[in-house]
Amino acid sequence: MSGEFAGLAAVVTGGGSGIGLAVARLLADRGAAVACLDLDPSGVPAPLHAIGCDVSDADSVARAVTAAVARLGGLDVLVNNAGAGAQGTIEANPDDEWHRVYDVNVVGIVRVTRAALPYLRASSAAAIVNTCSIAATAGLPGRALYSATKGAVQALTLAMAADHVGEGIRVNCVNPGTVDTPWVRRLVDAAADPAAEFVALRARQPIGRLVTPAEVAAAVAYLASPLAAATTGTVLAVDGGMHGLRMRPA
Ligand code: NAD
Repeated sequence: MSGEFAGLAAVVTGGGSGIGLAVARLLADRGAAVACLDLDPSGVPAPLHAIGCDVSDADSVARAVTAAVARLGGLDVLVNNAGAGAQGTIEANPDDEWHRVYDVNVVGIVRVTRAALPYLRASSAAAIVNTCSIAATAGLPGRALYSATKGAVQALTLAMAADHVGEGIRVNCVNPGTVDTPWVRRLVDAAADPAAEFVALRARQPIGRLVTPAEVAAAVAYLASPLAAATTGTVLAVDGGMHGLRMRPA
Protein backbone atom coordinates (compact mmCIF):
# COMPACT_ATOMS: atom_id res chain seq x y z
CA MET A 1 0.00 0.00 0.00
CA SER A 2 3.03 2.30 0.09
CA GLY A 3 2.56 5.73 -1.38
CA GLU A 4 -1.24 5.85 -1.44
CA PHE A 5 -1.13 9.18 0.42
CA ALA A 6 1.36 10.80 -1.97
CA GLY A 7 0.36 14.41 -2.55
CA LEU A 8 -2.22 14.37 0.29
CA ALA A 9 -2.20 16.42 3.49
CA ALA A 10 -3.35 15.08 6.86
CA VAL A 11 -4.09 16.52 10.30
CA VAL A 12 -4.01 14.20 13.32
CA THR A 13 -5.30 15.50 16.65
CA GLY A 14 -3.70 14.00 19.71
CA GLY A 15 -0.81 13.29 17.37
CA GLY A 16 1.81 13.87 20.04
CA SER A 17 1.63 10.41 21.62
CA GLY A 18 0.31 6.87 21.44
CA ILE A 19 -2.19 6.02 18.70
CA GLY A 20 -2.14 9.51 17.15
CA LEU A 21 1.62 9.54 16.77
CA ALA A 22 1.57 6.04 15.25
CA VAL A 23 -1.10 7.17 12.77
CA ALA A 24 0.86 10.29 11.85
CA ARG A 25 4.04 8.28 11.28
CA LEU A 26 2.27 5.73 9.09
CA LEU A 27 0.50 8.35 6.96
CA ALA A 28 3.83 10.14 6.47
CA ASP A 29 5.60 6.87 5.61
CA ARG A 30 2.95 6.36 2.91
CA GLY A 31 3.46 9.76 1.37
CA ALA A 32 1.29 12.27 3.25
CA ALA A 33 2.36 15.63 4.60
CA VAL A 34 1.18 15.44 8.21
CA ALA A 35 0.51 17.93 11.01
CA CYS A 36 0.10 16.69 14.59
CA LEU A 37 -2.18 18.93 16.67
CA ASP A 38 -1.68 18.29 20.37
CA LEU A 39 -1.77 19.91 23.80
CA ASP A 40 1.85 18.79 24.06
CA PRO A 41 3.44 18.50 20.62
CA SER A 42 6.99 18.33 22.05
CA GLY A 43 7.41 14.64 21.16
CA VAL A 44 6.49 15.03 17.49
CA PRO A 45 9.51 14.23 15.29
CA ALA A 46 10.34 15.70 11.87
CA PRO A 47 9.15 15.52 9.13
CA LEU A 48 5.82 15.62 10.97
CA HIS A 49 4.65 19.17 11.70
CA ALA A 50 4.10 19.83 15.41
CA ILE A 51 1.34 22.33 16.21
CA GLY A 52 0.05 23.16 19.68
CA CYS A 53 -3.73 22.84 20.02
CA ASP A 54 -6.37 22.30 22.67
CA VAL A 55 -9.43 20.74 21.04
CA SER A 56 -11.59 22.03 23.89
CA ASP A 57 -10.80 25.65 22.92
CA ALA A 58 -12.42 26.98 19.73
CA ASP A 59 -9.85 29.76 19.20
CA SER A 60 -6.96 27.34 19.66
CA VAL A 61 -8.55 24.94 17.15
CA ALA A 62 -9.12 27.68 14.57
CA ARG A 63 -5.52 28.88 14.88
CA ALA A 64 -4.09 25.35 14.70
CA VAL A 65 -6.12 24.25 11.66
CA THR A 66 -5.24 27.47 9.83
CA ALA A 67 -1.56 26.95 10.66
CA ALA A 68 -1.70 23.30 9.56
CA VAL A 69 -3.28 24.13 6.20
CA ALA A 70 -0.72 26.90 5.63
CA ARG A 71 2.14 24.47 6.30
CA LEU A 72 0.68 21.50 4.42
CA GLY A 73 -0.79 23.41 1.48
CA GLY A 74 -4.30 21.98 1.95
CA LEU A 75 -6.16 19.31 3.85
CA ASP A 76 -7.42 15.93 2.63
CA VAL A 77 -7.43 13.68 5.69
CA LEU A 78 -8.56 14.54 9.22
CA VAL A 79 -7.98 12.07 12.06
CA ASN A 80 -9.90 13.14 15.17
CA ASN A 81 -7.99 11.20 17.80
CA ALA A 82 -7.43 13.48 20.82
CA GLY A 83 -9.25 12.16 23.84
CA ALA A 84 -9.55 12.38 27.61
CA GLY A 85 -10.08 9.48 29.99
CA ALA A 86 -12.31 9.05 33.02
CA GLN A 87 -12.84 6.20 35.43
CA GLY A 88 -15.59 5.08 37.75
CA THR A 89 -19.34 4.60 37.89
CA ILE A 90 -21.78 7.47 37.32
CA GLU A 91 -21.33 8.41 40.98
CA ALA A 92 -17.59 8.83 40.69
CA ASN A 93 -17.46 11.99 38.61
CA PRO A 94 -19.18 15.32 39.37
CA ASP A 95 -21.12 17.16 36.68
CA ASP A 96 -18.25 19.46 35.76
CA GLU A 97 -16.05 16.43 35.00
CA TRP A 98 -18.80 15.01 32.75
CA HIS A 99 -18.89 18.31 30.88
CA ARG A 100 -15.08 18.53 30.64
CA VAL A 101 -14.55 15.03 29.23
CA TYR A 102 -17.54 15.30 26.86
CA ASP A 103 -16.16 18.64 25.70
CA VAL A 104 -12.81 17.08 24.73
CA ASN A 105 -14.01 13.74 23.35
CA VAL A 106 -17.16 14.80 21.50
CA VAL A 107 -17.31 18.58 21.05
CA GLY A 108 -13.57 18.52 20.33
CA ILE A 109 -14.30 16.46 17.20
CA VAL A 110 -17.07 18.89 16.24
CA ARG A 111 -14.80 21.94 16.65
CA VAL A 112 -11.89 20.52 14.66
CA THR A 113 -14.14 19.14 11.93
CA ARG A 114 -16.01 22.44 11.56
CA ALA A 115 -12.70 24.24 11.10
CA ALA A 116 -11.49 21.60 8.62
CA LEU A 117 -14.63 21.24 6.46
CA PRO A 118 -13.99 24.18 4.11
CA TYR A 119 -10.62 22.64 3.19
CA LEU A 120 -11.94 19.07 3.00
CA ARG A 121 -14.65 20.23 0.60
CA ALA A 122 -11.89 21.40 -1.74
CA SER A 123 -10.21 17.97 -1.72
CA SER A 124 -10.91 15.15 -4.16
CA ALA A 125 -9.84 12.55 -1.56
CA ALA A 126 -11.48 13.86 1.61
CA ALA A 127 -11.69 11.48 4.55
CA ILE A 128 -12.30 11.81 8.27
CA VAL A 129 -11.47 9.03 10.72
CA ASN A 130 -12.50 9.35 14.36
CA THR A 131 -10.84 7.36 17.14
CA CYS A 132 -13.74 5.89 19.06
CA SER A 133 -13.39 2.89 21.44
CA ILE A 134 -14.63 -0.56 22.29
CA ALA A 135 -16.11 1.31 25.28
CA ALA A 136 -18.84 2.58 22.92
CA THR A 137 -20.36 -0.89 22.67
CA ALA A 138 -18.85 -3.22 25.28
CA GLY A 139 -20.45 -2.24 28.59
CA LEU A 140 -17.10 -1.96 30.37
CA PRO A 141 -17.35 -1.71 34.17
CA GLY A 142 -15.98 1.42 35.82
CA ARG A 143 -15.96 3.50 32.63
CA ALA A 144 -19.41 5.18 32.61
CA LEU A 145 -18.39 8.69 31.59
CA TYR A 146 -15.73 7.60 29.10
CA SER A 147 -18.10 5.03 27.54
CA ALA A 148 -20.89 7.61 27.19
CA THR A 149 -18.57 9.96 25.30
CA LYS A 150 -17.34 7.21 22.98
CA GLY A 151 -20.91 6.05 22.31
CA ALA A 152 -21.54 9.64 21.26
CA VAL A 153 -18.45 9.59 19.02
CA GLN A 154 -19.73 6.48 17.24
CA ALA A 155 -23.18 8.02 16.69
CA LEU A 156 -21.59 11.31 15.60
CA THR A 157 -19.44 9.45 13.08
CA LEU A 158 -22.49 7.90 11.41
CA ALA A 159 -24.41 11.19 11.43
CA MET A 160 -21.45 13.07 9.93
CA ALA A 161 -21.05 10.37 7.28
CA ALA A 162 -24.68 10.86 6.24
CA ASP A 163 -24.45 14.65 6.25
CA HIS A 164 -21.30 14.89 4.14
CA VAL A 165 -21.50 11.94 1.75
CA GLY A 166 -23.00 14.23 -0.89
CA GLU A 167 -19.92 16.46 -0.64
CA GLY A 168 -17.55 13.58 -1.29
CA ILE A 169 -16.31 13.51 2.32
CA ARG A 170 -16.12 10.04 3.87
CA VAL A 171 -16.42 9.64 7.65
CA ASN A 172 -15.55 6.44 9.52
CA CYS A 173 -14.29 5.46 12.96
CA VAL A 174 -12.08 2.86 14.55
CA ASN A 175 -12.97 1.16 17.84
CA PRO A 176 -9.75 0.04 19.50
CA GLY A 177 -9.68 -2.38 22.39
CA THR A 178 -6.97 -1.85 24.99
CA VAL A 179 -3.94 -0.42 23.23
CA ASP A 180 -0.43 -0.34 24.65
CA THR A 181 0.05 3.44 24.79
CA PRO A 182 1.40 5.87 27.41
CA TRP A 183 -2.26 6.43 28.46
CA VAL A 184 -2.75 2.76 29.32
CA ARG A 185 0.69 2.52 30.95
CA ARG A 186 -0.29 5.42 33.23
CA LEU A 187 -3.52 3.60 34.18
CA VAL A 188 -1.60 0.40 34.89
CA ASP A 189 1.00 2.23 36.98
CA ALA A 190 -1.74 3.88 39.05
CA ALA A 191 -3.40 0.55 39.91
CA ALA A 192 -3.00 -0.95 43.38
CA ASP A 193 -1.24 -3.94 41.81
CA PRO A 194 0.16 -2.82 38.43
CA ALA A 195 1.37 -6.28 37.39
CA ALA A 196 -2.03 -7.85 38.11
CA GLU A 197 -3.78 -4.98 36.31
CA PHE A 198 -1.66 -5.52 33.19
CA VAL A 199 -2.43 -9.25 33.19
CA ALA A 200 -6.16 -8.51 33.58
CA LEU A 201 -6.13 -6.05 30.68
CA ARG A 202 -4.40 -8.61 28.47
CA ALA A 203 -6.73 -11.42 29.51
CA ARG A 204 -9.97 -9.59 28.70
CA GLN A 205 -9.00 -9.45 25.01
CA PRO A 206 -9.54 -12.78 23.23
CA ILE A 207 -6.22 -12.45 21.38
CA GLY A 208 -4.56 -12.56 24.83
CA ARG A 209 -2.49 -9.39 24.48
CA LEU A 210 -2.88 -5.65 24.12
CA VAL A 211 -3.41 -4.12 20.69
CA THR A 212 -0.41 -2.16 19.38
CA PRO A 213 -0.64 1.48 18.27
CA ALA A 214 0.67 0.36 14.86
CA GLU A 215 -2.29 -2.03 14.46
CA VAL A 216 -4.76 0.79 15.10
CA ALA A 217 -2.78 3.06 12.77
CA ALA A 218 -3.05 0.47 9.97
CA ALA A 219 -6.85 0.48 10.29
CA VAL A 220 -7.01 4.28 10.38
CA ALA A 221 -4.73 4.50 7.33
CA TYR A 222 -6.94 2.09 5.39
CA LEU A 223 -10.12 4.04 6.17
CA ALA A 224 -8.39 7.34 5.35
CA SER A 225 -6.93 6.13 2.08
CA PRO A 226 -8.33 6.19 -1.45
CA LEU A 227 -8.40 2.36 -1.18
CA ALA A 228 -11.49 2.84 1.02
CA ALA A 229 -13.19 5.22 -1.42
CA ALA A 230 -16.45 3.21 -1.22
CA THR A 231 -16.44 3.01 2.59
CA THR A 232 -18.23 5.59 4.73
CA GLY A 233 -20.28 5.37 7.93
CA THR A 234 -18.32 2.32 9.05
CA VAL A 235 -17.07 1.27 12.47
CA LEU A 236 -13.89 -0.83 12.27
CA ALA A 237 -13.04 -2.70 15.47
CA VAL A 238 -9.35 -3.21 16.29
CA ASP A 239 -10.06 -4.78 19.62
CA GLY A 240 -8.48 -8.21 19.76
CA GLY A 241 -11.93 -9.77 19.31
CA MET A 242 -13.50 -8.10 22.36
CA HIS A 243 -16.69 -7.01 20.65
CA GLY A 244 -17.25 -9.74 18.11
CA LEU A 245 -16.22 -12.93 19.89
CA ARG A 246 -18.29 -12.62 23.07
CA MET A 247 -15.57 -14.42 25.02
CA ARG A 248 -14.78 -13.95 28.67
CA PRO A 249 -11.46 -14.72 30.32
CA ALA A 250 -11.24 -18.39 31.38
P1 NAD B 1 -2.13 9.09 24.71
O1 NAD B 1 -2.29 9.70 26.06
O2 NAD B 1 -0.92 8.26 24.43
O3 NAD B 1 -2.26 10.21 23.59
C1 NAD B 1 -3.32 11.13 23.62
C2 NAD B 1 -2.81 12.45 23.09
O4 NAD B 1 -3.93 13.34 23.05
C3 NAD B 1 -1.76 13.09 24.01
O5 NAD B 1 -0.63 13.47 23.25
C4 NAD B 1 -2.49 14.29 24.61
O6 NAD B 1 -1.63 15.39 24.86
C5 NAD B 1 -3.51 14.60 23.52
N1 NAD B 1 -4.64 15.36 24.03
C6 NAD B 1 -5.37 15.11 25.15
N2 NAD B 1 -6.29 16.07 25.32
C7 NAD B 1 -6.14 16.95 24.29
C8 NAD B 1 -6.78 18.16 23.94
N3 NAD B 1 -7.75 18.70 24.71
N4 NAD B 1 -6.37 18.79 22.82
C9 NAD B 1 -5.38 18.29 22.06
N5 NAD B 1 -4.71 17.17 22.37
C10 NAD B 1 -5.09 16.49 23.47
O7 NAD B 1 -3.48 8.23 24.49
P2 NAD B 1 -3.89 7.12 23.40
O8 NAD B 1 -4.07 5.85 24.16
O9 NAD B 1 -3.02 7.18 22.21
O10 NAD B 1 -5.36 7.64 23.05
C11 NAD B 1 -5.66 8.29 21.83
C12 NAD B 1 -7.15 8.10 21.53
O11 NAD B 1 -7.44 6.70 21.48
C13 NAD B 1 -8.11 8.69 22.56
O12 NAD B 1 -9.22 9.27 21.88
C14 NAD B 1 -8.58 7.47 23.34
O13 NAD B 1 -9.86 7.65 23.90
C15 NAD B 1 -8.58 6.43 22.24
N6 NAD B 1 -8.52 5.05 22.70
C16 NAD B 1 -7.44 4.59 23.39
C17 NAD B 1 -7.41 3.27 23.80
C18 NAD B 1 -6.26 2.68 24.56
O14 NAD B 1 -6.40 1.55 25.09
N7 NAD B 1 -5.11 3.35 24.64
C19 NAD B 1 -8.50 2.41 23.49
C20 NAD B 1 -9.58 2.92 22.79
C21 NAD B 1 -9.58 4.24 22.39
